Amino acid sequence: MQLYCPSLTEYQRLATREVRVGDLLLGNFHPIRIQTMTTTDTMDTEATVAQTIRCIEAGAELVRITAPSKREAENLLAIKNELRKRGFNTPLVADIHFTPNAAEIAARIVEKVRVNPGNYVDKKKFELIEYSDADYAEEIERIRERFTPLVKICKEYGTAMRIGTNHGSLSDRIMSRYGDTPMGMVESAMEFLRIARFESYHNIVLSMKASNPQVMVQAYRLLVKAMVEEFNECYPLHLGVTEAGDGEDGRIKSAIGIGTLLEDGLGDTIRVSLTEDPELELPVCRDMIKRYRPNRSASAILIPPTGNRLPYDPFHYQRRESIAIGNIGGKQVPVAIADLSRLQSITAQSLESVGYAYDAATDKWNISDTAADYIFTGQAPLDFSLPGTLKVITWPGHWINAADKEKYFPIFDAKGYLEAGQKSETMNFVMLDCFSEYSPLHGFDYLDELSIDPRVVICLSSKHPHTMPAVRRVFIELMERKIANPVVLITDSNWQTPDEHLIHYATETGALLLDGMGDGICLGMTADSYQHMGSEFALQASGRNYLQNNTVEQFINNTAFSILQATRTRISKTEYISCPSCGRTLFDLQETTAKIRARTNHLKGVKIAIMGCIVNGPGEMADADFGYVGSGPGKITLYKGKEVVKRNVNSDVAVEELITLLKENDAWVNPA
Ligand code: SF4
Repeated sequence: MQLYCPSLTEYQRLATREVRVGDLLLGNFHPIRIQTMTTTDTMDTEATVAQTIRCIEAGAELVRITAPSKREAENLLAIKNELRKRGFNTPLVADIHFTPNAAEIAARIVEKVRVNPGNYVDKKKFELIEYSDADYAEEIERIRERFTPLVKICKEYGTAMRIGTNHGSLSDRIMSRYGDTPMGMVESAMEFLRIARFESYHNIVLSMKASNPQVMVQAYRLLVKAMVEEFNECYPLHLGVTEAGDGEDGRIKSAIGIGTLLEDGLGDTIRVSLTEDPELELPVCRDMIKRYRPNRSASAILIPPTGNRLPYDPFHYQRRESIAIGNIGGKQVPVAIADLSRLQSITAQSLESVGYAYDAATDKWNISDTAADYIFTGQAPLDFSLPGTLKVITWPGHWINAADKEKYFPIFDAKGYLEAGQKSETMNFVMLDCFSEYSPLHGFDYLDELSIDPRVVICLSSKHPHTMPAVRRVFIELMERKIANPVVLITDSNWQTPDEHLIHYATETGALLLDGMGDGICLGMTADSYQHMGSEFALQASGRNYLQNNTVEQFINNTAFSILQATRTRISKTEYISCPSCGRTLFDLQETTAKIRARTNHLKGVKIAIMGCIVNGPGEMADADFGYVGSGPGKITLYKGKEVVKRNVNSDVAVEELITLLKENDAWVNPA
């Protein structure tokens, strides 16, 4: 195993134990299972049955239902019986927080229970307590006493269990020793896992969810490492990004976290948590896993000679060191390059799609927070004057004709660059296809030739079926050779639907950005995909309410900025951390999220959590700056960080009160 996965260069699933959930087998190389969770009140049997059936018909292989207390746990029997009566045998999972009694009832009824080790035994008080080793051991003994009965019931009834840690809802004990860290998340699960193993109970799945994909990815990697080191075997992994939100951002955030791990063969079941109807999560799950077809492993990627000694730390974020060339590389945020080369002709109006709106009356450009830094035209110099902050990349034959060499830069292939007679004095983009440029025959020596030139920005892409690892392999080589030229990630998509494109871009580039690799991104589409997407926009027939872009270029540009935001490498907009809702939810999450978004989506960099209940919400809203949390029917409690600032506000004025809170804390600016 290479640190945390079977291979960093070849697609291989991580070997995990086989777990039985009813008739469903997962782990041990069984297909990656997809699942979701109902949002209905568990006491409303008819509504929960109806929604479960919609989820099953949409493809769910497991359906989770919340059981906040003994009553709901008991009602799982009525739900299960009704489903079975109607011919649906899909396994059900009870979601448990804070209530061991409910877990012990549910474990006798449904096929799987999910417990959160952060709150199964402990009541979280957000207290920082100093634990001596003896205190700590005593706490573990207390957990053993409280958790063992559930383990025994699961063993007796053949019920599976997920030990599901969430970033933000770690116990005070774990927080005091490890802080709110990926390592704390791992240890939180390992404490419970050790107790289960002591009872020879192994029907276990584990999860390490966070709303920040970076934290989530690090936690899963660390968990695999910890399991291998301690037990020499791994339990199946349930992957998910919590509170991912809705629409494009929800899909992108989820794909970055889940996709990064799937790329390395980690993950036996996935759930995409969207603030949308649960059945809408399943097509997204399917789009994520269908990428991993058998030919994925066709490998000609050179294994790094250093084996397990990587030149970067996959368990902590650190940006790869690079020199700055213009506004690319060094300590600067990654740049966004918009590919406009598929437009027949580029006019001033075309730039509106990538964040620049020309106002003829004032002869000024209005520049949005998500305005591209560069456009790639592939054409002759443009016949209008450009916004001050925008630069153009084009082929060398056209670049030569550009009068303003401060604004225009050439892009070469590697051979073309080495042989070129005329180059930019300041910045040259050089494309490398990580598959065709290097292979066991070519090696990597060509990199040295390019990199002695401090005017070269390397543009990496790959046609290898296992693309991201092929590009990552070149990064490893750059680091080993101490080559510090900045690198732009070029990712083309040949998929068809908007969701497929989002998932592709987010996985391929997000996985690298999370490991600190990449000083810029440029997303594009093959001609076929571009044409297909163009007709999709023209028809507006998709029925996807999140598809709020007018052109393919706008869709791609917004996706690029959303990826940078979700990887926290460049913040350009408001961030929403909204829970997917469940049977505990106290208000209409989708409607409220839309309302809050409409009022606050101009607040660049502010993180707002919208959580359905006060039981889990405050813990799980992680590092949000402000929180809007359901605290009772028609009541909302507002938070600043983890601190309650307005308790039980009437829901009809709560959005207004949130705006007041933002204003009181200097987090508000008037919309432009
Ligand atoms: S925070 Fe949302 S999803 Fe989580 S338990 Fe509360 S209502 Fe359910």
